[in-house]
Amino acid sequence: MRLSCIILNKSRLRDILVKLKHRPSHSFPSPAKQVMDEQNIVIIGAGIGGLSTALALQKFGFQPKVYERASLLGEIGAGIMLTPNAVKALCFLGLENALDHSAVEPVDSVYRRFDTAEEVLRSPLKDKMQAAYGARYFHVHRADLHKNLLDAVLAQDPSAIHVDHEFERLEQGPNSIKAWFASGASIEAALLIGCDGIHSRVRGALYGDENPRFTGQMAWRGMVPAQGLPDTVTEPVSVSWLGEHKHIIQYGVRDRQFINYVAIVATEEWTEEGWNRPADVDEVVSAFEGWHEDVLTLLKSTPEGNCYKWGLFDRDPLDHWTQGRVTLLGDAAHPMLPFMAQGSAMAIEDAVVLGRSLTSHSSIDTALAHYEKERRERTSLIVQKSRQATNLYQRLTGDKSEQRASNLDFLYGYDAATVSI
Ligand SMILES: Cc1cc2nc3c(=O)[nH]c(=O)nc-3n(C[C@H](O)[C@H](O)[C@H](O)COP(=O)(O)OP(=O)(O)OC[C@H]3O[C@@H](n4cnc5c(N)ncnc54)[C@H](O)[C@@H]3O)c2cc1C
Repeated sequence: MRLSCIILNKSRLRDILVKLKHRPSHSFPSPAKQVMDEQNIVIIGAGIGGLSTALALQKFGFQPKVYERASLLGEIGAGIMLTPNAVKALCFLGLENALDHSAVEPVDSVYRRFDTAEEVLRSPLKDKMQAAYGARYFHVHRADLHKNLLDAVLAQDPSAIHVDHEFERLEQGPNSIKAWFASGASIEAALLIGCDGIHSRVRGALYGDENPRFTGQMAWRGMVPAQGLPDTVTEPVSVSWLGEHKHIIQYGVRDRQFINYVAIVATEEWTEEGWNRPADVDEVVSAFEGWHEDVLTLLKSTPEGNCYKWGLFDRDPLDHWTQGRVTLLGDAAHPMLPFMAQGSAMAIEDAVVLGRSLTSHSSIDTALAHYEKERRERTSLIVQKSRQATNLYQRLTGDKSEQRASNLDFLYGYDAATVSI
C-alpha cells in the first residue's frame, strides 16, 4: 500500500516535471511582456533578420507587427551558407524540419588553388559539425530560407506583416514611440526594432545618416543549373577557390540542382548601389581569365540574365544600438563583409537573444540593455574578423590554419538559445 503510494507520487511528480519542462516560456509573463502586450512591438523590415525577430518574439507569446517597404515579400536568387551557430538558432525557432526539406548538407569544405585546382585544404562538414558544435552545416537558397521564416510567422499570426510601409522617421516619448511611413501613415509602439538592413533609416534616426564604408571588394553572383556541368564542379562540397586579390565560393542548393557562386575581386572604387545590378557573363569570365577550367566552365554556364554584381560595404561597429525604446538588429546594427558567411547568422542569433531577453527581464529597458550587451561584443568582433579574413581567401602565401581553426570554435560554438543573458 505504502509502496504504491510512493510509486503514484513519483509518477505524478514526473508528470509535473515534464509539464514544467514543456510549459511555454510565456506562461508567467514578465512585467516587460505585460507592458508590451498592451501596446505594439513594431519591427521595421521583413528580411531574414526581421522575420527571425518576429518568430522569436511570437515564440515567447508576443504579437509583433512587421512593416516592410517592398510591395512583395521575397529574397533574391542567391545561396546562403548556414553555419552551425545559425542552425542552432533556427532550430530553436522551430525550423529544423523546414531546413531538412529545403537545405543541403555539404560533405566537406574544400579550398582549391585558382589555377591548378590543387586542394590546399579539405575538412569534413557532414561528419564533424554536429559532433563538434551541436548542429549541422547547410547550404540553402535565400528565397527558401526567407519563405520558411515567412510561413512560420504567418502561421502564428496571419496579419503580422504589412507590406508597402516604408519607414521614414520616429519620435520617442517617455514610454512610447511614434513612427511615420512614406505614405504619411503613422503608428504607435512600445518598442521598435530596426531590421532594415545596411542602409537602415532607423539607425539614421538614432545615430545620424552616415554612408556605409566601401570595403575595396566587389562581387558577381550567379546561379547555374547543375545539369551538364562536369562532376568535378558538382561534387557535393563547399568549394573556395583561392587567388591573389580574388576568390570564388561555390556550392549546390535546391537538391543540388543549381550551383550558386559568388566571385569576389579587390577593386579600388565602387559607385553603384544595390544588390541587383545585372552584369554580362563575359565581364565575370574575363575578370577570372587564367583560372582553372572548372571555374571558367561554371562562370560561362551562367544563364544570360542571371548574373549580378554589387559592391561590398560594411560599417564600423557602433558603441550603442539602443536609444530609449528603439533598438537595431541584423545588418542595421552590424553590416559586415560576407567572408565568414555570418551576416544572416548574426541577425538570426540577435533575434533569439532579443526574444529571450524580453521575456526574461523585468522591464523593456533592462531587456534591451542585456540584449545589446550580449550581442554587441560578438558582432563587433565578427565585423573585424570578416575584414581580416581577406587574407584567408585572397592571399596564396602563409599558413592560415591557426586563424581558420580559432575562427571556427568562436563562430560555430556559440548557442543563442542557451547563452547567459
Ligand atoms: C555576397 C554575400 C554573401 C552572403 N553570404 C552569407 C552567408 O553565406 N551566410 C550568412 O549568414 N550571411 C551571408 N550574407 C549576409 C546576409 O545576406 C545579410 O547579413 C542579411 O541578409 C541581413 O539581413 P537583414 O534582415 O538584417 O537585412 P536585409 O536582408 O537587408 O533586410 C532588410 C529588409 O528591410 C527592408 N527595408 C529597408 N529599408 C526599409 C524602410 N525604410 N522601411 C521598411 N522596410 C525597409 C528591406 O526591403 C528588406 O526587406 C551574405 C551577404 C553578401 C553580400
